[in-house]
Amino acid sequence: MIELRHHARLALQAGRVPRRMPDRTWGGAGRGDSCAVCDQPISSAEMELEVEFAQDGRPLDSYHLHIACCSAWMTELSQAHSATMSNSRASQPASPSLRQIAAEKT
Ligand SMILES: [Zn+2]
Repeated sequence: MIELRHHARLALQAGRVPRRMPDRTWGGAGRGDSCAVCDQPISSAEMELEVEFAQDGRPLDSYHLHIACCSAWMTELSQAHSATMSNSRASQPASPSLRQIAAEKT
């Protein structure tokens, strides 16, 4: 699982997967598409998750992921968010209400 998190972080850094939570998530049997995180094909014997991102006026952006890869990616996403928040908290002392506003934005 640690290795998957590593893959997920690399995929995020390389821009192969977006840095935000998907707007829609679908599950189903794999169809041989490459996983956006680990780059391995998702066989029909496995379950895949298809995540979709709405874009202004453009077709949905979609990515295929193994279930484990998807959860590793989401874990990395949530950790990246909390790291960003603790950085900004360190540089500017925020009152509880400001912290709350920051949390609502993410
Ligand atoms: Zn994968």
